[in-house]
Amino acid sequence: MGYTPAENRYEKMQYRRCGKSGLKLPALSLGLWHNFGGDTPHETKRAILQTAFDNGITHFDLANNYGPPPGSAETAFGEIMREDFAGYRDEMIISSKAGYLMWPGPYGEFGSRKYLVSSCDQSLKRMGLDYVDIFYSHRFDPETPLEETMGALDYIVRSGRALYAGISSYNSEKTREAVAILNDLGTPCVIHQPSYNMFNRWVETDGLKDTLQELGVGSIAFTPLAQGMLTKKYIGGIPEGSRATQGKSLLPSHLNEKTFASIKSLNEMAEGRGQTLAQMAIAWVLRGGGITTALIGASKPSQVIDCVGAVENLDFTDAELVEIDRLSGE
Ligand code: NDP
Repeated sequence: MGYTPAENRYEKMQYRRCGKSGLKLPALSLGLWHNFGGDTPHETKRAILQTAFDNGITHFDLANNYGPPPGSAETAFGEIMREDFAGYRDEMIISSKAGYLMWPGPYGEFGSRKYLVSSCDQSLKRMGLDYVDIFYSHRFDPETPLEETMGALDYIVRSGRALYAGISSYNSEKTREAVAILNDLGTPCVIHQPSYNMFNRWVETDGLKDTLQELGVGSIAFTPLAQGMLTKKYIGGIPEGSRATQGKSLLPSHLNEKTFASIKSLNEMAEGRGQTLAQMAIAWVLRGGGITTALIGASKPSQVIDCVGAVENLDFTDAELVEIDRLSGE
């Protein structure tokens, strides 16, 4: 069956300016790190992407290594682009990244020009796209001159492979250096992708969140739900089929007695606000406009629908914020 997007798809979502750029991003973006590899049925992937787009999510985040196996999420996304979204490319913001290990040998990871440009070409081929909207340096490379890594991003944009450049997980100090180099090259750093959620606040302690606002760089916070911990999912223990049972990035050991107690009380607080815990966790990341968009993952369409409901209430009182700090152990 062909896919026709919902006509009302732009009615409820908020679109927020990405730093000082001309680009607007949806308050929620969808990432394909998990649930788009060879271990997930094709129809599930299609349904998640269609539900996201139907609910105003225009931004889809990928990387060379997403799978498993690495590369398969981009391949699957490319197939679904051709099947369902071919007529909607100009309504979508698609990103990819290079930085982590992708192929053997000295040119398959980190931040050399050799790696970034070849990896970008591979990603475009896998996805069957002429260009990505955003291309990121996925992590800081302590051994490659930052000028070379940023020069590669500038080249990727100037050669038409990407429209915008971004960096991911760089700390505040390295971000300042990267942004200055890109400004000199005339290809601004439009976006930074750090992890951020109630249980992981390094962007606050490092000063990165303030730095990005000062520099006018947009931000996309990954794992806003702490990989699912900040949802109702783990309240009664670890359910079968959840990420924590799959031996991937979320281990059962992350869920200790303290975490369970925290999740339970945060869930009660969310209910008091008339939200689900997932919605409150996303709203918290987006509070005050300091973060442009929350980058969620989803293993089923119903999760996307639940998360999108966050935009109905993004506000907190000061007392609520203090309570969240207390309940989340901060
Ligand atoms: P989240 O914190 O949003 O966790 C997503 C998981 O939470 C889902 O797979 C699902 O788990 C669960 N979930 C989501 N919504 C709900 C809901 N409403 N109710 C119950 N459970 C829910 O983000 P991810 O960890 O998936 O990361 C998001 C994206 O961030 C990635 O896809 C990637 O694009 C990006 N990322 C970037 C990194 C980087 O270095 N730049 C690193 C990591 C991620 P379950 O599968 O158990 O159902």
